[in-house]
Amino acid sequence: MSGTATTKLPQSAASLSAYSESDIPIYTTVASYREWRRKAFMENRSVGFVPTMGALHEGHLDLVRKSLVENDLTVLSIFVNPAQFSPHEDLETYPRTLEHDLKLLAQQQHLVVSNTPNTHSTSTITGQPTHIRRPSAVFLPSVSEMYPHGISQDASLQRGTFVEVKGYADEQMEGKSRPGFFRGVATVVTKLFNVIQPTNAYFGQKDIQQALLLRRMVTDLLLSHPSAQNLHIVPTARDPLDNLALSSRNAYLSPSGRKVAPTLYNALKAAEHCWFLEGKSKKECVDAAREVIHRVRNTEMGTLDGGGMEVEIKLDYIEMNDAEDFEVLEDEVTLQSRGEDASTVILSGAMWVNGTRLIDNLLLGDLGHRK
Ligand code: AMP
Repeated sequence: MSGTATTKLPQSAASLSAYSESDIPIYTTVASYREWRRKAFMENRSVGFVPTMGALHEGHLDLVRKSLVENDLTVLSIFVNPAQFSPHEDLETYPRTLEHDLKLLAQQQHLVVSNTPNTHSTSTITGQPTHIRRPSAVFLPSVSEMYPHGISQDASLQRGTFVEVKGYADEQMEGKSRPGFFRGVATVVTKLFNVIQPTNAYFGQKDIQQALLLRRMVTDLLLSHPSAQNLHIVPTARDPLDNLALSSRNAYLSPSGRKVAPTLYNALKAAEHCWFLEGKSKKECVDAAREVIHRVRNTEMGTLDGGGMEVEIKLDYIEMNDAEDFEVLEDEVTLQSRGEDASTVILSGAMWVNGTRLIDNLLLGDLGHRK
């Protein structure tokens, strides 16, 4: 299959040596990818899809590994989507590390134990036939491939077709702080689904509003590749030492900023404790989270590091929303008043560490739990 891959990388991409080192076929055009996908359809092979903006870390790789386990073939896309960045955001400086990304991808593998004779080799552990799954393809389109008529970051200048998930985007959580962001995300993911035609798609809980909104979009648009049941949400990967949610934007943090960054997670944990163990109201629990951030902000660590460098942390929001309809919980609601049949609550927040905006969330309850 690798013979059909396009070897010409877009201007912004890394050198060809990165491509040859990783050995994973890279498709930079819709047409060349579609040819590969057509063969996978003909061979009845399942395709798992992990959409990313690159600068890969263990969080992305968790999604890749899950896809390798659950699918015959795994495709990862790398595309920094201009439509989801507003004009004042970090589109130009967003980390781009293609060479490293391809190396990391090449290291991912899953050993499949099979009962069917005639497959590859024999496992020394089980004595059964085995084969190894590795990422099968990378989709690395240019901006003009994804937006043939061009794309402005200024929404008022945009023309053509865009996808909006009304009631789930601009009034709540991330959407409230970043107007137009989810319109950009829903539009590019629709395009990517149309191209990749995945059997299964994998998204991180780290961006819970995005994942649930896309599931709603897939249901509303009657998409089949993937179907809503096949859009999977994978738990947030964290730093094992201090639980900071892994993120490509963590690369922006100074050493002192990195030290205070887990404050957001600690604040959410305080609210979770307040909700489940103290049985207090939403308002009291959100206040408990804010208090954690204010305490750190007012200590020396929050404003100055050891060398006298300033670290400024600023809360953007802490909120609690119903995971079904994204409605903000009323201030006086408690775990008990919601009742046992209530749906899961998204406890989420965003915090600035100097110029870097960090997000995180915890699910209070189980996403499978329906009203
Ligand atoms: P991004 O490259 O930031 O657009 O992320 C691509 C995918 O990786 C999205 O589905 C994210 O939710 C997911 N992701 C990013 N960070 C993490 C993390 N720490 N744990 C799990 N998934 C993540």
